[in-house]
Amino acid sequence: MICYLLNKKIKMNKKGGFFANFVLILLFISLCFAIYYLYQFWPREPVELNRVSIDEPTTIVLNGIPSKQFYNKMRYSDRVISYSIASSCLTDRVSSMEEAFANLEELTVLNFIKFDRADADIKILCSDVAPEAGQENYFVAGEGGPSSVLNSTVYSLILEGKIALYRDDSCAGAKVATHELLHALGFDHNNNSKSILYPTLKCNQEIDLEIIESINKLYSVESLSDLVIYSVNATKSGKYLNFHIEILNQGLVSSGNVFLGVYSGEKLIDKFDLGDVSVGARKILDVENLKVSSNAKSIVFYVDYDNLVVELDENNNKANLKLTEK
Ligand SMILES: [Zn+2]
Repeated sequence: MICYLLNKKIKMNKKGGFFANFVLILLFISLCFAIYYLYQFWPREPVELNRVSIDEPTTIVLNGIPSKQFYNKMRYSDRVISYSIASSCLTDRVSSMEEAFANLEELTVLNFIKFDRADADIKILCSDVAPEAGQENYFVAGEGGPSSVLNSTVYSLILEGKIALYRDDSCAGAKVATHELLHALGFDHNNNSKSILYPTLKCNQEIDLEIIESINKLYSVESLSDLVIYSVNATKSGKYLNFHIEILNQGLVSSGNVFLGVYSGEKLIDKFDLGDVSVGARKILDVENLKVSSNAKSIVFYVDYDNLVVELDENNNKANLKLTEK
């Protein structure tokens, strides 16, 4: 009987020892996991991600625009251009200006709409007090030109144009008004005395075919936005990604609400709401401690990843950064 009990005790001791060892091993494994886990999140020297590829801003090529403009590729955002005429303009000058609009509407893709508000694209003013001309025997019949231009886009975007008419047109065909309107569309003088853009007025001057072609080419491009990654840099520290990205809208209109997608390989890690990016504006986003896989070797930044914005160029929205071996 004693032996039996002793035997049982020994058996129990053996069982208890085995259990204790098992617990110890389990604890040891858990500890290893905990250390590994902590190691993943432990602050380390950040490693720089290097640019592998970035979709460069593409330039929309408009070959063969021979007519000289004040800046390269000047245009309004849309082919429908609004105008306002000041109440100081009397009937003759109003009808002369309207004739100039009608002339250009007939010859080009442009449309002009009367919009008597402060934010009209082209503002027409009238005065009988003309500025002094630089030379004798000349008078200033009118002035015109873009008064506000944005140069940070694919185009030199005219935000506002102004025309001032100082005299009634002495020629048939609204020559002065047409000359000034072409200035407001961004066209400079030329040295062809038969051209309506010759610096001094003669009644036989006409709109050059080249100017008509230039206008039609410039406005053949749809009025859309064009988002592009202007610059990006990123560092990775263990599981954490820090990045700085700048997104430019180099198009013709505001983008509307847009999202940036951040990918590790094919996997979308996170998306960021950039809001509306207005024309010529650069949105800057700084993100710290975005959790990614510690094995992630490349990160892709993708503007408008869900493709909700229709753009002039859909192929300049991505930047691919990679951890390169040293
Ligand atoms: Zn002029």
